[in-house]
Amino acid sequence: MPVSVPHVRGLSPWRCESRELTVARAILPRSLMEAARVILHVDMDAFFASVEMRDDPRLQGRPVLVGGAGRRGVVAAASYEARKFGCRSAQPMVHALRLCPEAVVVAPRHATYVEVSRQVFDIFERFSPLVEGLSIDEAFLDVSGSERLLGTPRQIADAVRKAVREETALTCSVGIASVKFLAKIASGMNKPDGVTEIPAGKELEFLTPLPVGALWGAGPKTEERLAQRGIRTVGDLRRLGPSTLTSWFGAQGAHLYRLSEGIDERAVIPDREAKSISNEDTYAHDVVGVEALKRCLLSQATRVADRLVAEGLRARCVHLKIRDGRFVTETRQCTLPEAVDDHRAIYGAACRLLESVETEGRSFRLTGVGVAALEEASAPVQLGLFDAVGSRGRAPGGAAAAPLRKDSLQAVLSAVRERFGHQALFPGAAGSERRGGATGAISHTRGAPPAEQAENPGPDGPRKPGRRGDGGEGHR
Ligand SMILES: [Mg+2]
Repeated sequence: MPVSVPHVRGLSPWRCESRELTVARAILPRSLMEAARVILHVDMDAFFASVEMRDDPRLQGRPVLVGGAGRRGVVAAASYEARKFGCRSAQPMVHALRLCPEAVVVAPRHATYVEVSRQVFDIFERFSPLVEGLSIDEAFLDVSGSERLLGTPRQIADAVRKAVREETALTCSVGIASVKFLAKIASGMNKPDGVTEIPAGKELEFLTPLPVGALWGAGPKTEERLAQRGIRTVGDLRRLGPSTLTSWFGAQGAHLYRLSEGIDERAVIPDREAKSISNEDTYAHDVVGVEALKRCLLSQATRVADRLVAEGLRARCVHLKIRDGRFVTETRQCTLPEAVDDHRAIYGAACRLLESVETEGRSFRLTGVGVAALEEASAPVQLGLFDAVGSRGRAPGGAAAAPLRKDSLQAVLSAVRERFGHQALFPGAAGSERRGGATGAISHTRGAPPAEQAENPGPDGPRKPGRRGDGGEGHR
């Protein structure tokens, strides 16, 4: 009998999928992969200074410098009022006070900033499981695939800003683009409290007039060397072509050229402890056809739902992972309108995600269903717009009544399977594709198995965990 290996928080295979996605992007036609990418870069506005101004109303509207007040103090953050005087973070405090003598100097409260940062990242994770922090106050969110439920990229950006404003009383700015570095540039263009979108197809138009220093990896030295040759804008740089740039700057030149073309294949790599539950199977024989794949997904959705119930959790995000016979791995994700622990809801979402995978003429060696954006099942369930009063199991007065029938059914099914094994009360259509159980030929994987990792290591080798703040992007 097949053994189910549930992936619990911290052990999730989804943590390494972005690397695989990068590989997939390198293999598949660009149009196929890029069409689906929507990346937000969210950057809190003058983060430390804004937190101080929020917590001390006397500071509002005044130039505020957060940092050490001593002779050797350095500005950690300057409010927008102080920036008007030329004050900037990383300036010596003495210098900043010369520029703006009336500025109020506030000692940093790092514990508070960390706490607010955690709050803000929790909000980000409600919009996507793919959240990559660049620092305490900025992150990339890959919201590809969330459009159907969350709206257009701009609507998603506005919803993020609204949630941040309502829940933390702080503002942030958002950049929207099809690749990371453009989203990052965009978020800085309408600060504070602004949104800048670079629509797909407009990347070159946006990039051409920008100074070369806007590109990641083009530091002041590179900028100076280019300026000596009359190269000032990204457009100038692009016209040089890849071979000239490579002869001047080696690999960095090739990198800059790709950026000048708007090409940046770096995936958004989630770096927080992955809070997800997933289940995947590698098949002894490749699975062919949508119906067969759906049976696999039903089995996996059921195991994931059981795990959710066992842990007393519900999930708002559903992922699909699928790997074909050529080891090309694709992932899809979506956000649900409400948190669920019902296998039918998870299965339904996985099937919708499967629709966006090209299945014609391909056979698949692995499928996986996962959930993220977990919350306690006891958390209050928001009333749906069209729910009749009380239909979520609440009396009109708000008091909890008997839970919904489907909820209790899921709990009973899960409990029975918990007790009598996975095959007991299994949904009729599921499981028949997990062939070879009797022969033991199926390998049930936890994370990416070493053998497959070796076959498909990605362009940069295995990814290291804990990437936040590791400087790996080379753009700071
Ligand atoms: Mg910031």
